[in-house]
Amino acid sequence: MAPKRRATRRTKTEESAEEEGETLEKQPRRSHASGGSKYIGAHVSIKDGIWKAVDSCVAMDGRCFALFLGSQRSWTRPALDPAAADKFREQCSRHRFDSAHILPHGSYLMNCGSPKEDVLEKSRVLLVEELSRCSRLGLSLYNFHPGSSLGSISTEQCVQRIATSINNAHQKTPAVVTVLENMSGQGSTVGGNFPELKSIIDKVRDQSRMGVCLDTCHAFANGYDLSAEGGVKAMLNEFDQEVGLQYLKAVHLNDSKGKLGCNLDRHEDIGKGHIGISAFRDIMNEPRLDHIPLILETPGRPGFEYAEQIELLYSLCDKKKM
Ligand SMILES: [Zn+2]
Ligand SMILES: [Zn+2]
Repeated sequence: MAPKRRATRRTKTEESAEEEGETLEKQPRRSHASGGSKYIGAHVSIKDGIWKAVDSCVAMDGRCFALFLGSQRSWTRPALDPAAADKFREQCSRHRFDSAHILPHGSYLMNCGSPKEDVLEKSRVLLVEELSRCSRLGLSLYNFHPGSSLGSISTEQCVQRIATSINNAHQKTPAVVTVLENMSGQGSTVGGNFPELKSIIDKVRDQSRMGVCLDTCHAFANGYDLSAEGGVKAMLNEFDQEVGLQYLKAVHLNDSKGKLGCNLDRHEDIGKGHIGISAFRDIMNEPRLDHIPLILETPGRPGFEYAEQIELLYSLCDKKKM
């Protein structure tokens, strides 16, 4: 797949070419020269319209992005405005974002493994609704937190409920890939370790529609020591053995406020937490993470916002390997 090239700041020539309705395809573009096969981006807001997510990503010179598909407070979604959906698709194609590099994030309200029947039912309805929305937006991946037993059913029972929710959603929607996220192990969430993720996948009928998004903060909080020398490689080896690298569709790039094994879901800016910068250097030079979306969900403090963190990450690429 050819890497996308995008200018950090658009030149006057580009702007006037656009005004004159010319295509920008032939314009030379500056880009993260060493970005190569790595696709770094961030979770962006949809509050001013879903198509604005694309603009936000372009403004920070991201090459991939994540977004919510609606309010995080409501179980129901207003019907998707066809004009907004068209605009989103147009913006994606104009800026050459492939759907493999866009990772919608599921609603935090959902618990597809809930022991409470009413919550389980509402979650299953919302999962189907969100997957249909992905299709209408031209998206092919959908990332969500597997679920939680709330301590009142066993992990196995929760895993079974999650798999049933996914099978049901697959049956009712076209070919969007459901991407499970590894959890920090906070509370009674399921999917914190690789065997649990695999046990969900094993119970899904159409495994060609399954994927995993590895969150670095969650992995570290769950005891995968990315801060150790060779920690990134060791985690990926373990993932390959226990789940299978073919399922790896994305990474959430977050440093961790909490210490190794703390089980806390507390994201920190890149290089400012307990994972530390050398793990992110290893990530940027890890060929098994080529061509998949690597998405920031960090606090992005003033002066070290997403654009700066993206810049920093690209600067960690070993130029000799490019
Ligand atoms: Zn998440
Ligand atoms: Zn998190």
